[in-house]
Parts: sequence; structure tokens; C-alpha cells
Amino acid sequence: MEAAQPHIAILPTPGMGHLIPLVQFAKNLHQHHGISATFIIPNNGPLSKAQSTFLSALPASIDYLLLPDVNFDDLAADVKIETRISLAVTRSLPSIYDAVKSLQERKKLSAFVVDLFGTDAFEVAKTLNIPPYVFFPSTAMALSLFFYLPKLDEKVSCEYRDVPEKLQIPGCIPIHGKDLLDPVQDRKNDAYKWVLHHAKRYRMAQGIILNSFKELEPGPIEALQKENGEPAVYPVGPLIQMGSSKPEVDREPCVSLKWLDDQPSGSVLFVSFGSGGTLSHEQITELALGLEMSEQRFLWVVRCPNNKTSNATYFNIQNSDDPLAYLPQGFLDRTQGRGLVVPSWAPQAQILAHESIGAFLTHCGWNSILESVVNGVPMIAWPLYAEQRMNAVMLHEDIKVAVRPKFGENGLLGRVEITNVVKSLMEGEEGKRIRNRMRDLKAAAAKALGENGSSTKLLGELAAKWKGNTPTNRSV
Ligand code: UDP
Repeated sequence: MEAAQPHIAILPTPGMGHLIPLVQFAKNLHQHHGISATFIIPNNGPLSKAQSTFLSALPASIDYLLLPDVNFDDLAADVKIETRISLAVTRSLPSIYDAVKSLQERKKLSAFVVDLFGTDAFEVAKTLNIPPYVFFPSTAMALSLFFYLPKLDEKVSCEYRDVPEKLQIPGCIPIHGKDLLDPVQDRKNDAYKWVLHHAKRYRMAQGIILNSFKELEPGPIEALQKENGEPAVYPVGPLIQMGSSKPEVDREPCVSLKWLDDQPSGSVLFVSFGSGGTLSHEQITELALGLEMSEQRFLWVVRCPNNKTSNATYFNIQNSDDPLAYLPQGFLDRTQGRGLVVPSWAPQAQILAHESIGAFLTHCGWNSILESVVNGVPMIAWPLYAEQRMNAVMLHEDIKVAVRPKFGENGLLGRVEITNVVKSLMEGEEGKRIRNRMRDLKAAAAKALGENGSSTKLLGELAAKWKGNTPTNRSV
């Protein structure tokens, strides 16, 4: 065995939205507490270029290994992502065991940290007698739902969206069933069964590491820490990427940042729907015209439309893979100088940190929200998938740092509504109120990560446990 530097094994979900905060967590652990880490990555196909570039740029304190491919030929084409991720773990259990065992022979292994749908790997931790932990890359509110779900499942017999009154998750703002995360919207689907399965197993963990911080979600975090007691919950966020996450596809990193350099301070609305969000062609048209009519400056990361929800006009240009081809005719000329459109991907973390940015129209992915909070940027909440509707409810109704536009009955967000919310956030009274709250939250985020901040202290507690300085009081 090597010198007794503590080490942890991490089982991530390979998606960038989960890898980024987990790697940041591992970096913080090493930088502040000398604990190194190995990522053990389940695999069902080659990694994307973005993932391999990201992994090959890891510092020396973080190692990674790719597990052998698992076969998904038996799965239906429409199988949900939560089912795929869970099966990637169960089908990799023998290789996870081999990898962790070999690591244990070489390192002082203090913990086995699994991503939110990885709890089946607790079996490996149990066999090898390593304390198991969960890394939860989303909100305290979503984590509270996970703890509450087994009860809700017993209490409610219909679909949650059909419950007439709002649901009361402990410590959280009441929420309609239709706003809960996607995989709990269809209780007959395997994805729901998997979420429930993992939710029940969370109590087997010795701790849950949460990418949030006390000052951002005081209600749910206090309830989690008080009511559950065990497992201990460690909000150690905000864990956000530093710099760009996809350097190799940032062919234009300087274009957007240089353009921002020439804009007045706080004047630009940034529009982006995360790493995978897409809109229908009709919705792209409404958004473009809404931005144009608002007469505000904007920087928009545009993707090709999602053909499932686009209307018939989509078929006229379906062979084009240039997102700009889907914009209304003349839009680029009419908005030239005031707006910049960037195809597919932009260095979001750097953009949100730029002083010309005044607001963010976001799909409400949790990393995007945290990046906005850290930079004090007010938001327009436009949720698309996963737990994003829950996040939007929390941003708008609970912490009140976002406006939430109203969709029409046809499921579209119309140009007039877009114009109105953009104007109200950029120049109205509501915008001022939200901006002030955001300023406070930005300061709170910096404080949480500061020397005596809440997240710094909790990371220290966790590290002390892993270094063996405090006794662990539970066995697996
Ligand atoms: N991102 C980026 N450029 C883009 C789109 C996304 O750098 O054009 C980054 C963004 O900064 C964030 C992550 O990708 O760190 C997206 O994570 P999030 O949780 O917001 O959404 P997801 O993509 O997982 O839905």
C-alpha cells in the first residue's frame, strides 16, 4: 500500500452536467484537505469528445478509469435516461467491484461516493467495507423529494400531476405534482421505479454530498439536516466549473467574449438552454421575434430545432445543420450590433462572469443556475426537462430571483410575453428587486465558500471523517 494519503473512489454519471461539479468537488478536497480521488466511469459507448477532453485535462490528484462497455441492445429505443444510467451501474457491478478492490489494495480508501442513480454500487462498498456516500448534483429541494418519495408513493394512488392540491415536501415551498421532476411523472414507467428504488436506498449512505449551500436553500437544508439526521447531509456548494467546459468546441470563445467587451455594463441578456436543450422551430421563431421586439441587447446560443415538437415548417429546412438557418428571415440583419447569435455552444461560465451581462434566460439546469447565482445575474426561468420545472418554481416562488413567463395553451411561449418579461427584467421595477436579491445571494455564495463559510466548514467535517480524525458511527 502507498503512503497513507486518504483517497476516495467516485462513481459518476458520465454526463457533463454531473461530471463538472463532481470534479470540482474532488479538486476542492485535494486543494484544501490533501485527499485524492479516482473516478470509476461506467460506459455504454465511446465518450464524446467533450468528455474525453475534460477527463484528460484532470489534475494529477484526480485519476480516472473507464469500465468495460455494457450492452444495451435489449433496451427499447425510448427507454428513459434514469433507467439507462441505473442499468449502466447494475450491469457494471462486477467490473466496479474489481476496480474498487484493486484501488483498495493500493490506496487508503476512505469513501465510495456514487452519483444520484448509482446506489446499487453500495453492494460493492458493503463487500469491501468502505463507507458509501451519495453525491447529489441538484437542489436540496429535489433531494428532499427523494427522501419524501417513498411516503408519497404510499399515500398517493394516482399520478402526482392529478393531485388537485399542491404537495408539501418537508421544508420546501408547496409544489404542484405536474412540476415535479420528469421521471416521477409516469409512475408506470421503469424510470419512476428506478428513482423510487434509489430514493429508498439513500438512507443506507453514510452521508449525502449536496451541490447547494445553506443560504440559498435554508428551508429544505434545515429540514434535511434536522429530520433525517442520518444520513448526514453536506451542502458543500456552489461547485461550479472554472473556465470553459468544452474547450475543443469553443471555436469562437473570443467572438462572444470580445463582443461583450464592447457592450455597456449590465446591458446584455444571455440566452442559453444548457448542454442539450432544444426548442421547436416555431418556438425559435417566437423567441427571435420576442428578443427583437424587446429592443434589448442579447447574446443567444442557438441550436437546431427539436423535430418532435416543431411544426410543419421545420420540414422545409430539415437537412440543414446550421442552427442560424432556422432564424426568421432578416432577423440577423435587423438585430445586428444589438444582438449576437452563437451556434450550438459558448463559454457560458466566462460569459456569465462578464460585466456586460445583465440577465440570463435559462433552461434552469442546476449548474447554470449556480453559475448565475455566483455571478449575481438575475434570471428568466424557461424550464425544459429533468428537474428543471422544480428549479423554476424554487427560483420564482421561493428565493425570488427569476421571472417566469407564461406559456400559451398551445405550449408555446409567444413573442409578446417574451418581450414583456425581457423588458421587465432588464429595465422594470421587478428587475431592480430581483437584481438586489441576486446581489445578496452572490455575496452569500462567496461567503459560503470563504474561510469560515458554511460550505467550507462542512467540507472540512467530511474531510476530517475521511482522514479518520472523527469516528464514523455507522456501519454499512
Ligand atoms: N454550458 C456551456 N456552454 C453552453 C451550454 C452549456 O459551457 O453553450 C455548460 C454550462 O456552463 C453548465 C453546463 O454546461 O456548466 C450545463 O449544465 P446544466 O446543469 O445547467 O444543464 P444540463 O446541460 O445538464 O441540462
